[in-house]
Amino acid sequence: MESVLRKLGIEAINAGAACGQEALAGEGVEIASVDPTTGREIARVRLATGEQLDEVVVRAQAAWRRWRMVPAPQRGEIVREIGQALREHKEALGRLITLEVGKVTSEGAGEVQEAVDMADFACGLSRQLYGLTTHSERPAHRLYEQWHPLGVVGVITAFNFPCAVWAWNAMLALVCGDAVIWKPSLKAPLVALATHRICAEVLARRGFGDVLGLVIGQDAAVGEALVADRRLPLISATGSCRMGRRVNQVVAGRLGRCLLELGGNNAVIVHRDADQALALRAVAFGAVGTSGQRCTSTRRLFVHEDIHDDFVRRLSAAYESLPIGDPASPGTLVGPLIDGEAVAGYEAAIAAARAQGGRVLVGGSRIEGPGFFVEPTLIEIRHDAPIVHEETFAPILYVSAYRELDEAIAWQNEVEQGLSSAIFTDSFRAAERFLAHDGSDCGIANVNAGTSGAEIGGAFGGEKDTGGGREAGSDAWKHYMRRQTCTLNRGAELPLAQGVTFDLD
Ligand code: NAD
Repeated sequence: MESVLRKLGIEAINAGAACGQEALAGEGVEIASVDPTTGREIARVRLATGEQLDEVVVRAQAAWRRWRMVPAPQRGEIVREIGQALREHKEALGRLITLEVGKVTSEGAGEVQEAVDMADFACGLSRQLYGLTTHSERPAHRLYEQWHPLGVVGVITAFNFPCAVWAWNAMLALVCGDAVIWKPSLKAPLVALATHRICAEVLARRGFGDVLGLVIGQDAAVGEALVADRRLPLISATGSCRMGRRVNQVVAGRLGRCLLELGGNNAVIVHRDADQALALRAVAFGAVGTSGQRCTSTRRLFVHEDIHDDFVRRLSAAYESLPIGDPASPGTLVGPLIDGEAVAGYEAAIAAARAQGGRVLVGGSRIEGPGFFVEPTLIEIRHDAPIVHEETFAPILYVSAYRELDEAIAWQNEVEQGLSSAIFTDSFRAAERFLAHDGSDCGIANVNAGTSGAEIGGAFGGEKDTGGGREAGSDAWKHYMRRQTCTLNRGAELPLAQGVTFDLD
């Protein structure tokens, strides 16, 4: 454990805030970073205060004024170097993710790879921040739009993607010419410190260290102040719907911009003509991967009644043989939950499901011993039981049988969240029905691919209570820039639009 921390240069922790490379000794209370596999403390972190946030904002603003004037392709080149630095630290940073949040090693490394992919994507994007040219209705006029850097962007992240979600935002914001202040989850402060340090060092070598800021602080003292700060034109927040409602309200109150990536309650439909082996692997990975702690985790399963019994029997057998244990051990597929509160949430949800008529088919209990382990759980239950409509951040999968595809699509859409969805079918008609305007209402809709494990090339995000934000690929970069519409008149006349006249003589 010490060797990972040493390798990443974060063994002595008294740094609640950082402006670029420079750590500012935290002046707030001290918290522990805990290994969820053993329940043991890894290190202590002294938190930042509201005053320290102010210092980070002031320095980020000053850095941004210079950074925005660097040509975008040159910013892209620096982001390419950041990607290279992350590549070099992939193994150690991945191991730290496993240590601090309990992801199995391939997922820990995969998360760092996602940050690298974002850097590569953003580097290419730095030469493609295109504006539109349109035809003016006025003679001798030109009408076009251009995109300017926005300012200092606040990024709030959830515990479950302690590195990649920041990278979705930061890599785009950097090539767009913005500065970034990161407020990570207090459940994963070490990953934030290490990631920040690796990336800020690259910027510091080029004289732009303060373009990246970090504040590790409590929601009341630092989170709320960050969100309310008028110097930050955009707040990008990833986390629960409860958090998103609060952040949205505060940012709207100052007419700022919000980019929200909130909770999901994702369903898979397994149609009667599905390739069942394919569906089984995707459902198992979606439901138990990351111990059910992904925003895109599969939480609801609707199986056609003709194949329901057979499919559920096979899925139950797969659940029975899942390797659960130390996420750092090769072969482990299911690690721990993040903390004791998550275990309590898991137990409460199972109790509620039982009270609401659910039948536990597999699992259903916490695993005694050190750490925060629970059994992946399969529950047969009505699609509209209240607990099925809640996002419980744990490996619980609710199963129901359906008769008509339209019915399954209606069930899939009946929850408040709208993040990810999938259908398994070999029927062209069923697939197209699922993808039609009156099909899945989610931001992500997949055919013969599960709900979790998105690539960075697409715009990622969801509708309804998931918040409507889109991050990572496609044209998500537009969130991080300011659009300007420009009209240029090369003529000697001043014609007005819509034929309006205003004759002074
Ligand atoms: P959380 O809402 O408890 O915390 C998320 C972040 O918000 C943390 O950094 C927290 O400190 C901060 N926060 C909370 N209240 C705040 C406030 N008033 N002001 C400022 N900051 C505040 O979520 P979590 O338990 O860390 O993560 C799990 C949740 O995140 C799940 O609901 C999951 O679905 C969601 N999530 C969504 C996505 C997505 O892309 N849609 C990705 C990952 C996680």
